Amino acid sequence: MNAFKPHLASVADYPYAKVDARLKLDQNESPDDLPPDLKARALERIAAAAWNRYPELHAEDVRAALARHEGWDPQGVVLAPGSNLLVLALTQAARTVVDTVPAFPYYKGGSLATGTPWRGIPLAPGFAIPMDALLAAMDGAGGVLFLPNPHAPTGQLFATGDVERLAERARQQGWVLVVDEAYHAFAGSDARPLARANDHVAVLRTFSKSWCLGGVRAGYLLASPKVAAVVRACLPPFCIPVHTGAILQTVLEAPGYVGELAQRIQAERARVLEALSTHPTWRPYPSAANYVLVRTPDAKAAWDHLLSRGILVRRQDHYAGLEGCIRITIGTRAENDALLAAAAEAR
Ligand SMILES: *Cc1c(COP(=O)(O)O)cnc(C)c1O
Repeated sequence: MNAFKPHLASVADYPYAKVDARLKLDQNESPDDLPPDLKARALERIAAAAWNRYPELHAEDVRAALARHEGWDPQGVVLAPGSNLLVLALTQAARTVVDTVPAFPYYKGGSLATGTPWRGIPLAPGFAIPMDALLAAMDGAGGVLFLPNPHAPTGQLFATGDVERLAERARQQGWVLVVDEAYHAFAGSDARPLARANDHVAVLRTFSKSWCLGGVRAGYLLASPKVAAVVRACLPPFCIPVHTGAILQTVLEAPGYVGELAQRIQAERARVLEALSTHPTWRPYPSAANYVLVRTPDAKAAWDHLLSRGILVRRQDHYAGLEGCIRITIGTRAENDALLAAAAEAR
């Protein structure tokens, strides 16, 4: 077959295999569904909408509410069905993509799918930010640097000063630095001031984690109007469905539950980290996110053991430098108790 671009001949599907288990701690989702009163309100709104009519071209109605919530110029807000789609649009638009290794796999996946040159810069020892290599990678040719902060999958929070240095370099060299803040609510971090002061910085956020809406598929970019216009042009028109818009409008009217969930997860994360720190063979890494990366003697054995107790986590040992590592999502108190009990039986 020669219908398709040659670079797609060897492209691989997203690395995720569905496994059923009693406790699902593998995808960094919120353990709670949306509060029931908000779910009911959203359903009423969906029922009242006209399903025969197209939604707004670029979700202008939701964007206005989101812009108010984030304190951002509506022209600089881009909404998409999942921030992954914004990653895809950004990789499509980029001359070249630079990313850390290991990191969230879709920066590379989107680059491979769009045929954009991609380069991975290994993290420094202790998962530190490889500052000199990243500064050097932003060369005169231009491109987009993706930096998840807190970092996925290590959970590290990079220092604001380091992110600022990357942003300054991006400005000098004509790059765009995309700070992926999928987990910022669990860290209390905020790249918006940096992006407000520097057109070469964009902030990527999602409704999938702290907003308890992983199943709804919605994410957004906060950028300068110029960068936003390019990204919007790489997305299809009318791509936020009426039902998604109705759900987002509803949660944006009552966003208080997000901070409440984040606080609970932070307290549980501290408890899980402390308990795991005394494990005879497992070594948890500090985390600013809603998951914990744990080094075990054997990732497959640890994963199998937890699954035998009905607990699904994510193996991370396919990444260079993460040998033996599994990633555990912080769940409810009861879920974390079950996790800790099962972990205590592992050697
Ligand atoms: C979960 C996650 C996202 C969210 O992607 P969506 O498509 O919005 O669900 C984005 N970036 C990182 C690093 C993530 O872990």
